[in-house]
Amino acid sequence: MVHDVARRRELALEAAVRSGLVGPDAPVAGLLDVDGVRETVEELHAAFDGPGEVLHTFAAKACGLVPVLRLLADAGMGCEVAGPGETAQALAAGFVPERMVLDSPAKTVAELEFALAAGTAVNIDNFQELERVDAIVARDGAPSVPRVGLRVNPQVGGGSIGATSTATATSKFGVALRDPGAEQRVVDAFVRRPWLRSLHAHVGSQGCPPELMARGVRVLHELAGRIDAEAGEQRVETLDIGGGLPVNFDGDEVRPTYRDYVAALRGAVPGLFDGRYRLVTEFGRSVLARHGTIASVVEYTKSAGGRAIAVTHAGVQVAARTVLDPGTWPLRVLALDRTGRPKEGPPVVQDVAGPCCFAGDLTARGRELPLLEPGDVVALLDTGAYYFSAHYSYNSMPRPAVHGYRVDPAGRVRFAPVRSAQTIAQVVAESGPEHAEALLAL
Ligand SMILES: *Cc1c(COP(=O)(O)O)cnc(C)c1O
Repeated sequence: MVHDVARRRELALEAAVRSGLVGPDAPVAGLLDVDGVRETVEELHAAFDGPGEVLHTFAAKACGLVPVLRLLADAGMGCEVAGPGETAQALAAGFVPERMVLDSPAKTVAELEFALAAGTAVNIDNFQELERVDAIVARDGAPSVPRVGLRVNPQVGGGSIGATSTATATSKFGVALRDPGAEQRVVDAFVRRPWLRSLHAHVGSQGCPPELMARGVRVLHELAGRIDAEAGEQRVETLDIGGGLPVNFDGDEVRPTYRDYVAALRGAVPGLFDGRYRLVTEFGRSVLARHGTIASVVEYTKSAGGRAIAVTHAGVQVAARTVLDPGTWPLRVLALDRTGRPKEGPPVVQDVAGPCCFAGDLTARGRELPLLEPGDVVALLDTGAYYFSAHYSYNSMPRPAVHGYRVDPAGRVRFAPVRSAQTIAQVVAESGPEHAEALLAL
């Protein structure tokens, strides 16, 4: 690429302010670096390149916006979905069911029937769900292309963030493999069901180091070997190793990279890449996080108890995790002037606040930034995954617009719409106005 990630972002922010995509009529908006997304997807494919077949699916929960999913489909990815909303988004984006994986822990019978009939890969979460699939198979026959798998919890332990650690002893996901009798029950389940062909584990998301994830994959690989041995033939065709590569939110340099993770996998599971098993991955955050930015106008500035505070329009509605759990999910903040260029000035300790009505609605606390003034712009970096796509409608704040951007060699920025801003009329329409009299008539 002609410009690096930081330069493209800087040019895009300035162009967004100049063109009014961020300004009085749109006090908060999301921006997405299209070339950055494509670069990262290329890095992912290159890192896993080898003799074996690999399907890289994107975890739709990290950003279910249809044009983004369409971009990822075009870049060669499949899609991991959990539930009917993400399934419909993925189909609307043009993903074919054969390149989709359904992973929800609470699949209804209707969802299972739909996925099995469509040919979507399904990772069964527990033995009760397995019985439901047995009933569908008994009625409709085994799926013509066996893409049904079982999710196991290798119970290798948690990372530094409890809420995103899925391989703890008591995690709600998958069959807890180390519980008494569980592993034999899994092996028997495979031996008895020739259509059960895939094993799945997702050790965790942010906070899990590659070495921990690789240990979980080793458990998966050993289990596959045991199943094949007891079945007397290769029964497991696919190992779905999940996603979860952590993102460093402290700078533009990528740590760890997909290559680092593949090196950890090669170290922990030497046989993984020999082509015996087809591999599936499900990365979300690491694909998109660094390519998204939330920009917001500073509406007011004030001082309280000696603390400078800038009140912006980006708060808990677009940055729920950061606002509600600031110690775990800190974000980099850029201060820009009213033209959208980086602001100069001596560092002043400031809070950057959102628009919502609770005291904790801060996206940065005690941060040193050039002193912000009304009309300036604040950018929250690395918000391409789980931020503007995971809106939280506190205070009925409307969902902001999201724009994709590309920068040409001359530094000119072009934008394309990804999601239109939600209108206030739409906010009301989603609040039950058709039932306005219902409680009075009860
Ligand atoms: C959330 C999730 C992912 C994606 O995790 P990231 O940390 O975004 O890479 C993949 N697989 C499953 C089953 C998930 O729940």
